Amino acid sequence: MNYTGEDGIEHAAVFIGGLEECKYVMDVLGAAEVPNQLDVAERAGEQFASRGYYLVSVAADAATHARDVIEKQLREDLQIHPGDESQIAEERCPACGTLLVPGCASCQECGLMFE
Ligand SMILES: [Zn+2]
Repeated sequence: MNYTGEDGIEHAAVFIGGLEECKYVMDVLGAAEVPNQLDVAERAGEQFASRGYYLVSVAADAATHARDVIEKQLREDLQIHPGDESQIAEERCPACGTLLVPGCASCQECGLMFE
Protein backbone atom coordinates (compact mmCIF):
# COMPACT_ATOMS: atom_id res chain seq x y z
CA MET A 1 0.00 0.00 0.00
CA ASN A 2 1.46 3.31 -0.98
CA TYR A 3 0.84 6.64 0.70
CA THR A 4 2.40 10.08 0.77
CA GLY A 5 4.51 10.74 3.84
CA GLU A 6 4.99 14.00 5.74
CA ASP A 7 8.07 14.57 3.60
CA GLY A 8 5.89 14.61 0.48
CA ILE A 9 7.60 11.49 -0.84
CA GLU A 10 5.64 8.43 -1.84
CA HIS A 11 6.14 5.64 0.67
CA ALA A 12 5.17 2.00 0.51
CA ALA A 13 4.06 0.24 3.68
CA VAL A 14 5.87 -3.09 3.84
CA PHE A 15 4.58 -4.11 7.27
CA ILE A 16 1.67 -3.13 9.51
CA GLY A 17 1.30 -4.44 13.03
CA GLY A 18 2.38 -4.05 16.63
CA LEU A 19 5.42 -2.03 17.65
CA GLU A 20 7.56 -5.06 18.54
CA GLU A 21 6.90 -6.71 15.18
CA CYS A 22 7.65 -3.44 13.42
CA LYS A 23 10.99 -3.23 15.22
CA TYR A 24 11.85 -6.70 14.04
CA VAL A 25 11.05 -5.81 10.42
CA MET A 26 13.10 -2.62 10.76
CA ASP A 27 16.05 -4.68 12.02
CA VAL A 28 15.73 -7.02 9.04
CA LEU A 29 15.63 -4.14 6.58
CA GLY A 30 18.41 -2.29 8.36
CA ALA A 31 20.67 -5.34 8.19
CA ALA A 32 20.08 -5.40 4.43
CA GLU A 33 20.80 -1.65 4.24
CA VAL A 34 17.32 -0.78 3.08
CA PRO A 35 16.39 2.67 4.42
CA ASN A 36 13.10 2.45 6.26
CA GLN A 37 11.02 4.33 8.77
CA LEU A 38 8.43 3.76 11.43
CA ASP A 39 5.12 5.55 11.21
CA VAL A 40 1.67 5.29 12.72
CA ALA A 41 -0.51 2.88 10.78
CA GLU A 42 -3.30 5.36 10.12
CA ARG A 43 -0.90 7.07 7.75
CA ALA A 44 -1.77 4.30 5.31
CA GLY A 45 -5.51 4.59 5.76
CA GLU A 46 -8.31 5.57 8.09
CA GLN A 47 -9.21 1.93 8.67
CA PHE A 48 -6.12 1.76 10.90
CA ALA A 49 -7.03 4.74 13.07
CA SER A 50 -7.21 4.20 16.84
CA ARG A 51 -6.00 0.63 16.69
CA GLY A 52 -2.53 1.20 18.06
CA TYR A 53 -0.79 -0.24 15.04
CA TYR A 54 2.37 1.00 13.43
CA LEU A 55 3.78 0.55 10.00
CA VAL A 56 7.21 0.23 8.49
CA SER A 57 7.63 2.01 5.21
CA VAL A 58 10.28 2.37 2.55
CA ALA A 59 10.52 4.63 -0.47
CA ALA A 60 7.97 3.43 -3.01
CA ASP A 61 10.63 2.53 -5.55
CA ALA A 62 12.38 0.32 -2.98
CA ALA A 63 9.25 -1.59 -2.02
CA THR A 64 9.82 -4.62 -4.20
CA HIS A 65 13.36 -5.07 -2.92
CA ALA A 66 12.27 -4.52 0.68
CA ARG A 67 9.55 -7.16 0.40
CA ASP A 68 12.05 -9.60 -1.08
CA VAL A 69 14.38 -8.97 1.87
CA ILE A 70 11.57 -9.55 4.38
CA GLU A 71 10.32 -12.65 2.60
CA LYS A 72 13.81 -14.16 2.51
CA GLN A 73 14.21 -13.56 6.24
CA LEU A 74 10.82 -15.12 6.92
CA ARG A 75 11.77 -18.25 5.07
CA GLU A 76 14.96 -18.51 7.11
CA ASP A 77 13.02 -17.96 10.32
CA LEU A 78 10.56 -20.67 9.40
CA GLN A 79 13.33 -23.17 8.77
CA ILE A 80 14.72 -22.50 12.22
CA HIS A 81 11.32 -22.48 13.89
CA PRO A 82 9.04 -24.65 11.79
CA GLY A 83 5.41 -24.04 12.58
CA ASP A 84 2.55 -26.47 12.39
CA GLU A 85 0.34 -26.78 9.32
CA SER A 86 -2.20 -24.24 10.50
CA GLN A 87 0.50 -21.59 10.90
CA ILE A 88 1.86 -22.35 7.48
CA ALA A 89 -1.62 -21.94 6.02
CA GLU A 90 -1.87 -18.48 7.58
CA GLU A 91 1.33 -17.20 6.12
CA ARG A 92 -0.30 -15.94 2.99
CA CYS A 93 -2.96 -13.31 2.59
CA PRO A 94 -6.25 -15.03 1.71
CA ALA A 95 -7.11 -12.14 -0.59
CA CYS A 96 -3.97 -11.57 -2.62
CA GLY A 97 -1.57 -14.37 -1.66
CA THR A 98 1.21 -12.15 -0.34
CA LEU A 99 3.53 -13.82 2.17
CA LEU A 100 2.75 -12.35 5.57
CA VAL A 101 5.05 -11.46 8.44
CA PRO A 102 3.96 -13.28 11.62
CA GLY A 103 2.13 -10.88 13.88
CA CYS A 104 1.09 -8.48 11.17
CA ALA A 105 -2.26 -6.76 11.59
CA SER A 106 -2.90 -6.19 7.95
CA CYS A 107 -1.74 -7.41 4.58
CA GLN A 108 0.98 -5.02 3.51
CA GLU A 109 0.01 -5.49 -0.11
CA CYS A 110 -3.76 -5.15 -0.33
CA GLY A 111 -4.60 -3.82 3.14
CA LEU A 112 -6.84 -6.68 4.23
CA MET A 113 -7.07 -6.57 8.01
CA PHE A 114 -6.69 -9.58 10.27
CA GLU A 115 -8.27 -9.61 13.73
ZN1 LIG B 1 -3.41 -9.13 0.67
